[in-house]
Amino acid sequence: MPDKISLATVWLDGCSGCHMSFLDIDEVLLNIADRVDLVYSPLVDNKVFPDMVDLTLVEGGVSSVEDRAKIIKIRKHTRTLVSLGDCAITGNVPAMRNRYSVEVVQNRTYVENADVNTTPPTQVVPELLPMIQPVHTVIDVDFYLPGCPPPAPLIRDVLLALLNGETPDISPRFG
Ligand code: SF4
Repeated sequence: MPDKISLATVWLDGCSGCHMSFLDIDEVLLNIADRVDLVYSPLVDNKVFPDMVDLTLVEGGVSSVEDRAKIIKIRKHTRTLVSLGDCAITGNVPAMRNRYSVEVVQNRTYVENADVNTTPPTQVVPELLPMIQPVHTVIDVDFYLPGCPPPAPLIRDVLLALLNGETPDISPRFG
């Protein structure tokens, strides 16, 4: 990769804890900021995914029809894509709903636990898929960054390796 690369971060069905861990790499962020352009992220204002991004970090599982369309589009416009955290890699916490049908989940959320407007929404809220899917079951993933959230030092090491044109070795983390 060239010295300065474009970087995107994406938030699907996750709690944003992986993004918080990304910010936890502290002073190394300054070093990384000199070497990347953050072109798309919940952390910045630009909400249009560029034509091509060098590196994209994806937090969260694929939970809705909207998530699925979004990540398929982003894959087409990304050179290197990283599944960031256990929700992206396995479904993890949000996949706890996979034991139940969408109807049961919506009834629990919008009817049984609601005091007002006790009707599942038919607009604005994205249509849920029958089950949450790990990102790699929908699109090709180049690297995996495990953890809930991934520890900041691991995110730092993987980012620096990719910025240096190296292949990060995170296999011990899956041991
Ligand atoms: Fe949150 Fe953990 Fe999922 Fe990251 S992996 S989005 S920290 S629940």
